Amino acid sequence: MVDEKITIGVLALQGAFFEHAQMLKHFNVEVREIRQKKDLKGIFGLIIPGGESTTMSILMKKQSFRDELIKIIKNGLPVFGTCAGAILLSKKIKGNKSSEGLSLMNIEIERNAYGGQLDSFEEDVVLNLNDEKKRFHAIFIRAPKIIDVSENVDVLSRNSRNEIIMAREKNMLVATFHPELTSGLAVHEYFIQMCGRFTQKP
Ligand code: GLN
Repeated sequence: MVDEKITIGVLALQGAFFEHAQMLKHFNVEVREIRQKKDLKGIFGLIIPGGESTTMSILMKKQSFRDELIKIIKNGLPVFGTCAGAILLSKKIKGNKSSEGLSLMNIEIERNAYGGQLDSFEEDVVLNLNDEKKRFHAIFIRAPKIIDVSENVDVLSRNSRNEIIMAREKNMLVATFHPELTSGLAVHEYFIQMCGRFTQKP
């Protein structure tokens, strides 16, 4: 039997998509940069990278595939948003009346909650992945803060200030830090497991 590799997409409109694609190369998966609607066909998971959430949401609309993205994620496509990607997935963005992002996950997030670029920081954190505790070096760059989650959202990690930094709701995973900028593979490995369980509708 031929062992068919699953394809994981990385949204490549703007931001740290290259670094995520490099991380995925450590695994037995195909990696596809996603720039337009037609690129979404046949993927088993999608990473929305960090970058600038406002720019990314404008580009998503211009490429006219925002609606398609919303549809396939609602249909169960595993998606992992890091930093700006987490902002785009949130249903509520503090201070914004309406979310211009994808507005899918039942969390509230505050953008640039730690200040500007110079207030970026790093620390070792513990991730709770599949009932296992994993130490991970987390890098926060102009990071958002998850300030509220609804009860069906699982909190997978908190930082030393007890703030939520990683969470999952069904097929949607978010992290406020940048796992693609460290050598640790645990976060991407966890997401690929989520993708492996996704079965595409014919
Ligand atoms: N501050 C950015 C935003 O609000 C996110 C920063 C990041 O992705 N590293 O979109």
